Amino acid sequence: MRRIFIFLGPPGAGKGTQAEMFGAERGLPHISTGAMLRASMDAGTALGNKVKAIVDSGSLVSDALMIDLIRDRILQSDCSNGFLLDGFPRTTPQAEALDILLNETSEKVEAAVLFNITEEVLMSRLSARRTTENRADDTTETQLKRIKVYEEQTSPLINFYKEKSLLVSIDSDGTVDEVKSRLLNAFPIDSSSTFPNARSISNQN
Ligand code: AMP
Repeated sequence: MRRIFIFLGPPGAGKGTQAEMFGAERGLPHISTGAMLRASMDAGTALGNKVKAIVDSGSLVSDALMIDLIRDRILQSDCSNGFLLDGFPRTTPQAEALDILLNETSEKVEAAVLFNITEEVLMSRLSARRTTENRADDTTETQLKRIKVYEEQTSPLINFYKEKSLLVSIDSDGTVDEVKSRLLNAFPIDSSSTFPNARSISNQN
């Protein structure tokens, strides 16, 4: 059975950094749809050219395009033991499409991991990111737009996964290492048999 994780949280919650480390620790590919789109944009592919204006503005690329992208990606051989989705699903139709895709192979998501963070910490992280990373979609204006888009279109997924008892909250206020150890404790090497019902982890170190 493949281990399938979804990392959820507002832009700036640190989920990309944690996803990278968690994937490496658990031997699962970290699939970041944002990184896939940026790579296509940098390479000037047809897909990249098609989505560039949307991504740069902080809006969402169409569900149909994103679902196609994920459908192909999770069929690749590096996903044979599972995978970790960072930035997908981002809308309810995407989450429903993922369920349908996984149903076809009698699989399901092991957990949707929500990175909880206060607005104050979020704002200071985003401001730091504007100076350390050089993303075209990281201006103050687009960051605020992306937070608004998150609240309107992505945050309903919190309830979507809560209702399926798949939501696990991780307190992401802390150092990178603190948050990383909370995650690793929440999902041991083989947690599928030992972690069926504990659905709220906040301060495990
Ligand atoms: P991220 O790196 O996850 O913050 O994504 C950067 C940008 O890529 C987003 O602001 C969207 O424009 C686009 N994007 C990434 N993933 C998705 C998705 N699942 N659905 C729609 N747009 C996406």
